[in-house]
Amino acid sequence: TKLRVALLFGGCSGEHEVSITSAKAIANALSIDPNPSKYEVVPIYIEKNGVWHRGTEAEAVLESGQPLTVTGEVIPSDRIPDPATVKDIDLWFPILHGPNGEDGTVQGMLTLMQVPYVGSGVLGSAVGMDKIAMKMAFSQAGIPQVRYQAVRRSQVWSNPCIFPKLCDDLDAALGYPCFVKPANLGSSVGISKVRSRQELEAALDAAATYDRRIIVEAGVEARELECAVLGNDYPKASVVGEISYNSDFYDYETKYTDGKANLMIPAPIDTAIASKVRDMAIEAFLAVDAAGLARVDFFYIEKTGEVLLNEINTLPGFTALSMYPQLWSATGISFPELVNQLIELALERHTQAA
Ligand code: ADP
Ligand code: MG
Ligand code: MG
Repeated sequence: TKLRVALLFGGCSGEHEVSITSAKAIANALSIDPNPSKYEVVPIYIEKNGVWHRGTEAEAVLESGQPLTVTGEVIPSDRIPDPATVKDIDLWFPILHGPNGEDGTVQGMLTLMQVPYVGSGVLGSAVGMDKIAMKMAFSQAGIPQVRYQAVRRSQVWSNPCIFPKLCDDLDAALGYPCFVKPANLGSSVGISKVRSRQELEAALDAAATYDRRIIVEAGVEARELECAVLGNDYPKASVVGEISYNSDFYDYETKYTDGKANLMIPAPIDTAIASKVRDMAIEAFLAVDAAGLARVDFFYIEKTGEVLLNEINTLPGFTALSMYPQLWSATGISFPELVNQLIELALERHTQAA
C-alpha cells in the first residue's frame, strides 16, 4: 500500500503564492520516478485567512495555481484541521513559507499529533525564523556574521523620548548603509536599506508595523552565496550557488520577477571558499537544531576573503526553479529523488522520537 502524504501548502503569510508554486512542483515530483508506486499525494490547502481545506478546493488551488479568495466569517476551529478529515494521513509535508508554517507553529501541532513530518521541529523552525534568535545561536556557535543590534517595537513607538537616543546608538554602532528588518518575515518583506539618520527613523517605523521584534544590521558590500543542507543528525551540504542581480539589494521584486535575478550553480569561487561555505552551512544547521532540509545564505566579501553567515531558511522556496532543489540537482540528487529522501528523513526522525 502507498504512503499517504499530506502536502500542506498556501498559508497565512505573505509568501502564500510562492508556497502554491512550491507545492505544485512537489506534487508533481511525488508522481514521477522513483516515487509513483510509493506515495499518494493528498493536497491540503491553508487559505490566507488561515482556513484549512482538503479535497476538491485544495486540488483546484494546486491545479490552477490561484489562491482561494477569502469569504465569510471565520471561527478559530476553522484554522486547524478537522480531525475526521486527516485520519488517513501517514506523513505530512508542510511546504509553507514564512510565519504560521515555517516558524514552528504548524510543527508544534504535528508534534502534538505524534505524526511524521518533513523538515525541522518546533525549536529549529522557531529559531530559524526569528532573525534575532537565529543570530544569537550562530554567534554562540562562533559563526562569523555582520554586526547587528536587536530593537523592540516598544522602543520605536510607545516611548517617544527614547527614540532619538535609540537612533543615536544605532547610528554610532552600525553606521550607513545599514539594513532594518522585521525579525520574523522572509522574501525581503519589510526590509529597508538605509543611508541616513532620516531614513533610519522611517525604516524603524515601517519595520515596527510588521513585527514587535526588529533587527538592524551593518550593511556589507558582498557577493551572495547559498548552500543547501539535507539530513538529520549527519547533515550533508550541496555545491555552493551564487545569486546575482542589478538592483540595490535582493529585495522582493528582484526575487520574484522573472529575469531580475540570476542563479549561478556552482558559484564561480575558489574551492577553498566553497568548502568553507559548506562547513559553515552544516554548523548553522546544527546550531539552530534544523532537520531534514535548510538553505543557508552567506555574504562573501571578496576584498578580504571573509565569509559571513546571513541566514538560514528551514522551508526554502521549492519550485522547480528554486535554488534549493537546483543545488541538489547539481550535486547529483534529482528533484524527485530529493523529495523521496526528505520523506525518508521524516520517517527516520519520527522513529527516533518514539
Ligand atoms: P529574508 O529572510 O527576507 O530573505 P535577508 O536577511 O536574507 O532577509 O535579507 C534580504 C536581502 O537583503 C539579502 O539577500 C541581501 O541582498 C540584503 N541584505 C540583508 N542584510 C544585509 C546586510 N547586512 N548587508 C548587505 N546586504 C544585506
Ligand atoms: Mg529568510
Ligand atoms: Mg534571505
